[in-house]
Amino acid sequence: MGDGLYIGLDLGGTNIKAGVLNGAGKSLAKVSVPTGRGPDAVIANMIAAARQSVHSAGITLDAIDAVGIDSPGPLSTEKGVVIRSANLPGWENIPLRDRISAALGKPAILENDARAAAYGEFFAGAGKALKVRNMMMITLGTGVGGGIILDGRLIRGHTDMAGELGHAVVVPDGALCGCGQKGCLEMYTAASRVGQRAAQALHDPSVTSSLREPLAQFGELSARDVEDHARRGDELALDIWNQTCRYLAIACISAVHWLDPQMIVFGGGMAAAGEFLLQPVRRHFEENYWKMDPPAIVIRGAELGNDAGVTGAAALACAMMHAR
Ligand SMILES: [Zn+2]
Repeated sequence: MGDGLYIGLDLGGTNIKAGVLNGAGKSLAKVSVPTGRGPDAVIANMIAAARQSVHSAGITLDAIDAVGIDSPGPLSTEKGVVIRSANLPGWENIPLRDRISAALGKPAILENDARAAAYGEFFAGAGKALKVRNMMMITLGTGVGGGIILDGRLIRGHTDMAGELGHAVVVPDGALCGCGQKGCLEMYTAASRVGQRAAQALHDPSVTSSLREPLAQFGELSARDVEDHARRGDELALDIWNQTCRYLAIACISAVHWLDPQMIVFGGGMAAAGEFLLQPVRRHFEENYWKMDPPAIVIRGAELGNDAGVTGAAALACAMMHAR
């Protein structure tokens, strides 16, 4: 890799981000437009955003080699079709890749958003400095998602499910997840669930905690509340935060034995806590990891923030062209 210019298109429920990236991972332009509603309008907005990003980069479409697109799923990377999406009403079996490819006259690739973000961090973010070839990313948002890169390649799996780390089981017979399984990682570590776990603990009237105040005021607690009160030393908040980090560490240990990555990167809203999240994850990892050898893994935070998706999508377009 190294040459060529690529468009990345990141389709979110609120905004579409478009950018132009060179083969070395350098961003030449970035734009963001509102998503709109309904597949036809959204696809028209994506095409317009792509053209706008090319214009901002001071080039023409002729200079572009390929387009990478990421979207919420489930989707088929092979067919380039978005099967449906909770965040995009009216989307059902939409051939997103081919419609964009035809409109821009360029080869295109479609990937799910969490995996594209992981590839972005691999290509131009947290994985870049250490020249990592084997990496995992865990994204802590409303849900928990992720992506896996092995030997420099993004892993998709047999049914496009590889990287659905939020549904790895960490507690046998644990809390019932929306997916129908019990004890999924997401049930303990998604931002929404961290707040809910703290609120549940407060059902016990004998528990004293400064979290009672935001709970009374807002009727619910966020992961941010738990983080803030844990930082101020509230015992319940510290306990919930610490347990959350422990579940993440346990999932990381399993991941090491499945895949042996060199680096696990945490991204998403909750990872903005930085070392306050990463240090206890590392500590629990070391305490629970096997004693045959010391851990050889780097656990760190993501670097690209909201640009990971658009960067990863463009980088995947680059990888596609170089695989030909
Ligand atoms: Zn689940």
